[in-house]
Amino acid sequence: MHELLREGLSSRLWLMIPPEGGTPTVRCPFGFFLSPFAEPSTVSHHATVEITPAAVSDAPALTGMLPDELAEELASWDEPRYRASQILDWVFQKRASSYDAMTSLSKPLRARLAATHPLHTMHIAKVQGAKDATQKFLFKLHDGRYVESVLIPANRNAFGDMSDRRTICVSSQVGCAYDCKFCASGLAGFTRNLRADEIVEQILAVEAHSGERIDNVVFMGMGEPLANFTQLTRAIRIIQAEWGIGIGARHITVSTSGLAPQIKKLADFPLPVRLALSFHGATDEVRDVIMPVNRKYPIDVLFDALTYFRDRKKQKITLEYILIESVNDQPEHAAALARRARSIHAKVNLIPYNTVEGLPWARPSEPAQDAFLAILETAGVPATIRREKGHDIDAACGQLRLKQELSEV
Ligand code: SAH
Repeated sequence: MHELLREGLSSRLWLMIPPEGGTPTVRCPFGFFLSPFAEPSTVSHHATVEITPAAVSDAPALTGMLPDELAEELASWDEPRYRASQILDWVFQKRASSYDAMTSLSKPLRARLAATHPLHTMHIAKVQGAKDATQKFLFKLHDGRYVESVLIPANRNAFGDMSDRRTICVSSQVGCAYDCKFCASGLAGFTRNLRADEIVEQILAVEAHSGERIDNVVFMGMGEPLANFTQLTRAIRIIQAEWGIGIGARHITVSTSGLAPQIKKLADFPLPVRLALSFHGATDEVRDVIMPVNRKYPIDVLFDALTYFRDRKKQKITLEYILIESVNDQPEHAAALARRARSIHAKVNLIPYNTVEGLPWARPSEPAQDAFLAILETAGVPATIRREKGHDIDAACGQLRLKQELSEV
């Protein structure tokens, strides 16, 4: 028998711990992650890393600080401000794993830093997937919550072609409040926002684990990134900075369910991040049903915000569109999607629906998918479709390959 953990219930991340205290398995709530940890039998290769104890402090980690903030604090300790860049160099360039390793700093300074700003507040609880395939990382946060990241390897892209890019799909919240009807995360309640350091740390930890640098970041993991705007944009600053992780803003894609005011805010954010909209319904009639957020920000309001974003950022927006049988897959839906896409010169990524246990939706047949795509193409809309080839760990992430493609520029 398994015991369902309390945090599993509230965050709806279904964590099953054997009573003997063996390795936990997890049912990830995102439809597109499809419970990889719960079903090792569906995974062709998998590796597990041992759990190391996490810091219990709830102070944010140093990895969420901006140089000026660190310099201010150091100045208040009577340390020269330039120590801030020394420290950040140890963290982001040399990737020091502890303050002790920062040998150019005095021991008292290292001790004071360690006492005030943990270097890490979370750790990898489990890794699944072979090194040359899509890997899923389960993180345990300081408060015992879990989030996931997915690393899509360099040699795959949305079409299975060779690519030299590594893409990470990161989470921005624990749980999600937006209740999209097709998404397993929608089954989940919202627990809390991630802090910037918890977003940054997903990338640092995955790079450390894989020993390779990541080229693209997509905010398509758990949560609604634009509902966590302050921490999201702080994390983006750190991720793209030369003094930080150094992944340029053009290689960072924020995906949203359609928070119109925050889309405008992101348009005014000075860095050239990319935007993907989880559209999934091109009329209010359809979208109201499957995405409750549409009742707050209907399509006209949303497209005003998208137009504003496009004009400010001068870049193509991607419309993600999950094909769900009898819900949004009819020719008239394709025609409406084509009209909307053309109105903002967007490209469209079609994603055959990934079945989620407990939800009634199904994907259309391949001929129906092709017919839908053909309508977009005839209307002159740049569109792609990705199909899963099976149910192993890679295929379960059909959408994640999309995410790689999204951020390839
Ligand atoms: N909240 C943000 C980011 C997380 S969702 C957003 O809505 O964009 C990341 C993508 O996965 C979204 O496009 C979402 O609609 C999609 N997705 C969720 N469940 C899915 C499923 N069962 N099949 C296919 N795509 C799914």
